[in-house]
Amino acid sequence: MVLEKTSSIEEKPLKVMDLPRPIPGQNQILVKISTCGVCHTELDEIEGRVSPSRFPMILGHEIVGRIEGLGQGAKKFEEGDRVGIAWINWACGHCTFCLKGEENLCDKAKWTGKDVYGGYAQYTVVSEDFAYPIPERFTDMKAAPLLCAGVIGYRALRLSGIDNGKILGLYGFGASAHIVIQVAKYKYPDGKVFVFTRPGQKEHQDLARKLGADWIGATGDTPPEKLNCAIDFTPVGEPVRQALSSLRKGGRVVINAIRKVTPIPELDYTEHLWHEKEVKSVANVTRKDAHEFLPLAAEIPIIPETQEFRLKEVNEALILLKEGRMHGAGVLKIAE
Ligand SMILES: [Zn+2]
Ligand SMILES: [Zn+2]
Repeated sequence: MVLEKTSSIEEKPLKVMDLPRPIPGQNQILVKISTCGVCHTELDEIEGRVSPSRFPMILGHEIVGRIEGLGQGAKKFEEGDRVGIAWINWACGHCTFCLKGEENLCDKAKWTGKDVYGGYAQYTVVSEDFAYPIPERFTDMKAAPLLCAGVIGYRALRLSGIDNGKILGLYGFGASAHIVIQVAKYKYPDGKVFVFTRPGQKEHQDLARKLGADWIGATGDTPPEKLNCAIDFTPVGEPVRQALSSLRKGGRVVINAIRKVTPIPELDYTEHLWHEKEVKSVANVTRKDAHEFLPLAAEIPIIPETQEFRLKEVNEALILLKEGRMHGAGVLKIAE
């Protein structure tokens, strides 16, 4: 399913196209794709907030599949192995960011489904250094959302400064937040998690309750206690200000979004920032995030809620996601 130009998703711009099967180059693996998750970043790419570096582009960066071919020099995996591919597709390895373990900030990095063909397809190729073994206990369907919603959620949780006993606020309760709450409850059992959704998002609120949220309200509601840290997963600006008002002194809000569709409203210094409150964004992921998170997800174990679609239904899946009506994480089933 190929994107040929920037468009609104309501125009259903992803089209079926027959392309040649890719050939793995030096140190690359050829992956026959089984499932691919649907992420909000694809909406940003389609609608022009984050443009693919060229057209046509195959989007999708939560890829699970089996290796069907090895390029010259590839030796980390064998044919038939199950692997995952995430948003980070390649990084230079020698810039100041890469050398500090911040390859997510590498200027030359390439992103799956933005700079190189991604997972809304039957096959893809990737460097063996940017593929991850998938723990046994996950099916292909349940593993897909772990690769972006999970890995970046894990990074955001780490950056939030959370610790056991603290109160965490989650703004928006979609694919990433419903995984993050499971990690938070497991790693920080004495803390509390407060969940804020759009008003009337009953399905998201029910899921939050099922996963152990200690309080659930709408963005804008005053929580029963102030927050030590918060993660904003929403695509809009207003929750950032709301989260800052609900923070304790010295608290931090982490924004887990590649773009916002509406601006962050003006902040009042005294109410929103004074007392050493912080705002930080989370950008992309590193391979280390994926290598740490996937085994942790199996140990917990994380149970992602997934809504299944066929590859041809990806436009419809993205419309549901845009409208806030996706239940858990959307996943395309591409092959058995
Ligand atoms: Zn993503
Ligand atoms: Zn670099």
